[in-house]
Amino acid sequence: MEDEIYISLGGNVGEREKFLCSAIKKIADKMNVLAASSLYETEPWGLTGQPNFLNAVLRVSFGGKPEEILKIFQEIEDELGRERKVVWGKRTIDIDILLFGNLIISTPALTIPHRYLLMRDFFMVPLVEIAPDVEHPLFDGKISDFEKKLPPQLRTIINIKEDETWRSITTSLLKDQ
Ligand code: ATP
Ligand code: CA
Ligand code: CA
Repeated sequence: MEDEIYISLGGNVGEREKFLCSAIKKIADKMNVLAASSLYETEPWGLTGQPNFLNAVLRVSFGGKPEEILKIFQEIEDELGRERKVVWGKRTIDIDILLFGNLIISTPALTIPHRYLLMRDFFMVPLVEIAPDVEHPLFDGKISDFEKKLPPQLRTIINIKEDETWRSITTSLLKDQ
């Protein structure tokens, strides 16, 4: 059986919805998209003074290795005009791997689970929306329980952003399953 993989999409440049919609379509060309969260509007985390983000989480399945899926995501980021200048700075699209089944990896190029998974509400809230019972492979407990314990000063989510295009893309992708 293929691993259940959870990934995060985020962007805060230009028409943010368009970049997230293009990203999910490109991802769906390369792997099965099994679930998609709502779009969340969030305040920047770690580096203020930049536009608000839109964030979402997807569940995908993929037959290859984590390094291979990371390469696909980096190519999609490049195609969508991602520039890599400032750490945590503004970007058209950022695709991060949050969980890859129960795999644990810690190399300079790849840390899975994502090293900040339990510190970011914009990872945990959409993740729990599509996977209420998912657990952290390193720490004992459900992500939903960690999310509840996140202090107010680390919270970034402003609201859920309704977007007709996102809704129709995700509905049609999930209907094909
Ligand atoms: P953050 O990792 O804090 O969310 P970021 O997404 O802005 O920051 P990037 O510049 O997009 O950071 O990525 C820097 C490097 O992180 C990538 O080149 C990649 O090799 C590495 N990386 C390590 N773990 C992961 C992961 N789980 N998902 C995606 N990239 C990862
Ligand atoms: Ca990131
Ligand atoms: Ca990244």
